[in-house]
Amino acid sequence: MEKIGFIGLGIMGNPMSKNLINAGYSLTVYDINKESVSDVVKAGATAAKTCKEVAEQSEVVITMVPDSPEVEEVVYGEQGVLEGVKSGMLFIDMSTIAPATSQKVYQSLQEKGVEALDAPVSGGQVGAEAGTLSIMVGGSDAAFKRALPILEVMGKNIVHIGDAGAGQVTKACNQVVVGMTIQAVAEALTLAKKSGVNVEKVREALLGGFAQSRILDLHGQRVIDRNFEPGFKVKLHRKDMNIALQTGRDLSVPLHGSAIVAAQMDALLAQGDGELDHSALVLLLEQMANVAEK
Ligand code: NAD
Repeated sequence: MEKIGFIGLGIMGNPMSKNLINAGYSLTVYDINKESVSDVVKAGATAAKTCKEVAEQSEVVITMVPDSPEVEEVVYGEQGVLEGVKSGMLFIDMSTIAPATSQKVYQSLQEKGVEALDAPVSGGQVGAEAGTLSIMVGGSDAAFKRALPILEVMGKNIVHIGDAGAGQVTKACNQVVVGMTIQAVAEALTLAKKSGVNVEKVREALLGGFAQSRILDLHGQRVIDRNFEPGFKVKLHRKDMNIALQTGRDLSVPLHGSAIVAAQMDALLAQGDGELDHSALVLLLEQMANVAEK
């Protein structure tokens, strides 16, 4: 079994790294947050002091950090991954970042004889814990084949989309669908609420018809339970909508619906609600419809 390094042990990285440990992999881990590190060390990982040390101790390095600047910091920063890599290693970035950044990182690592994959995920904290993430991969065939046994510990639907950056483009498409579906569910449940009908029964009825979706199921339940603990933070989904909108602008693809959802997320951020789960989009609609709970 290849020795794995894991950088970024937050909501997603924590259960993903623990699943790898439970599958028998030996893990060297790093996170800027010491508490996140100690929890995974308790589960059997070894802590490293820097990203460079993670790379030195590993054959495969996985990253799961918030955004493009953090991936750049991890790779190019002082005591970063690039300082510790050896030819023949594999780097797998599972964060959601800009496709152009994935391609830049791929090039830099190629120059050191290191293969790189962009492998962002969908399925949320629940999928990360269950090891059932959907994983969308960009990079070479050889790197994909090598990574597959490792990815299979963390996910179920693992698709090699194309060259470097193709996984991130796929994830941007995913976030467009997820963002607009959350908005649709929020609008439907707010309409039900103001109409005075039973919101729980509306969800139940819709789940049996053409409007059925995992978002109606899971986020619909969150709305009913008033549970906006993340999950997936609004501020991270806003970051992903920006990636989608920028990609749309670069290619002259009008993404009207995505722009509206992104503006709704901006309003939540402006109200200080960026740390809430993205299902909290419903809170804005409830305010605007004057059915917010006091
Ligand atoms: P998170 O904020 O919970 O975790 C990110 C972790 O990275 C934190 O522990 C943080 O301390 C660490 N970190 C930040 N900068 C670092 C650096 N320079 N070096 C080392 N560690 C650093 O975020 P998350 O929800 O786990 O999301 C991680 C990635 O996965 C994001 O790109 C997100 O868009 C994506 N994602 C999240 C979900 C979800 O449901 N949470 C679902 C799919 C994809």
